[in-house]
Amino acid sequence: MNAHQGSCYCGNITVTVTTESPLSELTPRACGCNFCTMHGAAWVSTPDALLEIEIQNEAAINLFEQGSETARLWLCQRCGVVPAVTCDIDGSRKGAINANVMLERSAFPPATPSDPQNLSPQEKKDRWADIWINKVVIKDCWDVGL
Ligand SMILES: [Zn+2]
Repeated sequence: MNAHQGSCYCGNITVTVTTESPLSELTPRACGCNFCTMHGAAWVSTPDALLEIEIQNEAAINLFEQGSETARLWLCQRCGVVPAVTCDIDGSRKGAINANVMLERSAFPPATPSDPQNLSPQEKKDRWADIWINKVVIKDCWDVGL
């Protein structure tokens, strides 16, 4: 297993993805919604991975809800970067990371377009349950009802 790290621009939100998959086999998805397009976010995930999200300053993050309010985008209020997205599905937290925040971002294949905004909320959850990272741990974060 290899641990890959990334963070928002100012370092407030750090993400670590542990996976056996080489990054060269994980194709990021450039979501076509307005939020992700404006942020230049390219989401990448593989079910068989562990995602750890660590927060330095809890007061400087914003959990922005998108995708029919089923997904939470982890937005840094200081630098405006979105390193991760999570969703709670059937009691377990799934997630994906923004490939562009990773230190090894050049190792990923070019992003391909995706358009989940045309899916129903249930279709989105079914899709994310299939393709998002299966295990998400939030470290050092105060309880905001997460
Ligand atoms: Zn930041």
